[in-house]
Amino acid sequence: MGMEGGTRWGGRPRARARAETFRRWGHICHLCGHEGANEVDHLGELRYGGSSYDPANLRPAHGSNSPCPVCISPTTGRARCCNQERNAKPRATPLAVDLGSI
Ligand SMILES: [Zn+2]
Ligand SMILES: [Zn+2]
Repeated sequence: MGMEGGTRWGGRPRARARAETFRRWGHICHLCGHEGANEVDHLGELRYGGSSYDPANLRPAHGSNSPCPVCISPTTGRARCCNQERNAKPRATPLAVDLGSI
């Protein structure tokens, strides 16, 4: 996989990708299945080749500015921000490289 090469969030491509994502997928949160999602989440990790601007790689999700009206977060006891909660989950441990064996 190549490096991201300066791809940045912000600017028009992002706004266009957002608009296209909501047009294509509506406002159903892809994490919990409820309506009202107003944030865009990436399906694929950007560093693993997922595109930030390809709506096929983007899905609506509940975020801090649009928490789910149905789900309650077990951690905060309030409306769930699906996107943040997912991102807050511990990630897989990176591959351990034993430098001594190289
Ligand atoms: Zn949700
Ligand atoms: Zn929900």
